[in-house]
Amino acid sequence: MISKAIQNAINEQIKNEMYSSYLYLAMATYCAEENLPGFAQWLHMQSKEENEHAMKFYGYIHSQGGHVELSVIDKPPVKFKSPLDIFTHVLDHEKKVTAMIHKLYELALKEKDYPTQIMLHWFIKEQVEEEESATQIIEKIRMIGDQGPALIMLDRELGSRKGD
Ligand code: MG
Repeated sequence: MISKAIQNAINEQIKNEMYSSYLYLAMATYCAEENLPGFAQWLHMQSKEENEHAMKFYGYIHSQGGHVELSVIDKPPVKFKSPLDIFTHVLDHEKKVTAMIHKLYELALKEKDYPTQIMLHWFIKEQVEEEESATQIIEKIRMIGDQGPALIMLDRELGSRKGD
């Protein structure tokens, strides 16, 4: 059984992961409308992955006999400036999520909640990968520029991302 404090914090994280899913879907929409189907595909897959993160937390609360409480998800931004703007935003957002996961872990340490600590190890590792992949894409966009034929090639590369 998890404590009330852990339950509340994980419920909050379900909302945060759902917001990430919503944010990346908003970015995918922008890219699709800007004729960048590969960027849109990559972000769409990322959105699905964030939904799975939310569901991992959801399932964990239930496995611990806790109560899931869903709350309001904020509206994501509608307008973005460019692919570079989008991926800069992705990296900033993932850094914030990393800080949230670390805070959750600190709470689990404080509460001496060992199962929650172990469950969070997966997320701690996942965040390292999330920040790394956003950084790599930013570096590629910086290298090739924000428009032109090379961007079309990167769009093709990102479009090859399939569901995990
Ligand atoms: Mg996530």
